[in-house]
Amino acid sequence: METSRRKFIRGCFAAAGVMALGSFGCTGGGNSRRTGALAANLTQTNSPANGLSGGGTSRNSSTREASYLALARSGELERREQAIWKMFERCNLCPRLCGVNRTAGERGICGSNDTFKVASFGPHFGEERPLVGRGGSGTIFFSNCNLLCVFCQNWQINHRGDGNLTSHQELANIMLSLQRRGCHNINLVTPTHIAPHIMTALRIAVDNGLTLPLVYNTSGYDSLELIQLLDGVVDIYLPDFKYQDAELAARFSRGAPDVPKHTATAVKEMHRQTGVLAQHQNVAYRGLLIRHLVLPENAGGTDGLVRWIASELTPETHVNIMGQYRPQFRANDYPPLNRRPTQTEINQAMRWAREAGLRNFH
Ligand code: SF4
Repeated sequence: METSRRKFIRGCFAAAGVMALGSFGCTGGGNSRRTGALAANLTQTNSPANGLSGGGTSRNSSTREASYLALARSGELERREQAIWKMFERCNLCPRLCGVNRTAGERGICGSNDTFKVASFGPHFGEERPLVGRGGSGTIFFSNCNLLCVFCQNWQINHRGDGNLTSHQELANIMLSLQRRGCHNINLVTPTHIAPHIMTALRIAVDNGLTLPLVYNTSGYDSLELIQLLDGVVDIYLPDFKYQDAELAARFSRGAPDVPKHTATAVKEMHRQTGVLAQHQNVAYRGLLIRHLVLPENAGGTDGLVRWIASELTPETHVNIMGQYRPQFRANDYPPLNRRPTQTEINQAMRWAREAGLRNFH
């Protein structure tokens, strides 16, 4: 089943004229993000035109306009952009708090300096259904990652940094090209460590007609300060919620025991900003959708997580409980991550969600 899903997603990318690119996140996320197959190059066919060519008219009728347009009109979008660039100078974009001067080219734990890379982009039909609609989710895969899990499903991109150096104008062009192709949203995959670049590209794209909602497709290891600055910029938050246990988080995610704490704080803020996932004609245009990967021996703490969501957010929260984990990258050296979860474990995770009272999980 896993293989056929991957084939399907690769087929979608191929049909869209995009290099093959996996669907799973660094945790093995959703129907989306990164598998081992790697799209290291942006090809001629999926490269946007050199000059900005506007948003075009292919917008889907079910697509709503983004909330960042109001910020752009008031000048607030540019102020947010400047504030996020300020975080770059002693980098505190994520809870790692490396303090390096990224503007001067220094690198932090994420391995990124003052440049950024795009691994691939295109209409994606393997994401959760409300993100896909009929036109697909306009997905942009960025290279490198601030979390760096031992079981990363796309380590070539996230750990090794495979991808193509991209300019702000080129990224703006990519966003506009996805809009022209009828996508319902701009889905920014692993955006945290390059948030300033995204803001600048967004401003350029908005000036040239971009109106699609932004999806912030993150590992969940986000700082409250950055998420607060994204209030009104991002319409749909799509965070992973990986762990409940600090010790396991440190062992599996590059010595970061504070992942559960920071993810909880960030997700609460995301919920405050955007609320329960809202849809128009079955296409999401605003809200929160949490992804959670079922790990062997309940290493992800599913029982505690679903209770937390029900009590701290709302039982109406949309949650994708994913059973497709498989050992990748260095997972074989980190039992119990060296095996897939059993069907019994997956069923148990679903039972916990039901018992917690969640109403919108799958
Ligand atoms: S984004 Fe990268 S450099 Fe900045 S704090 Fe996080 S890991 Fe460190």
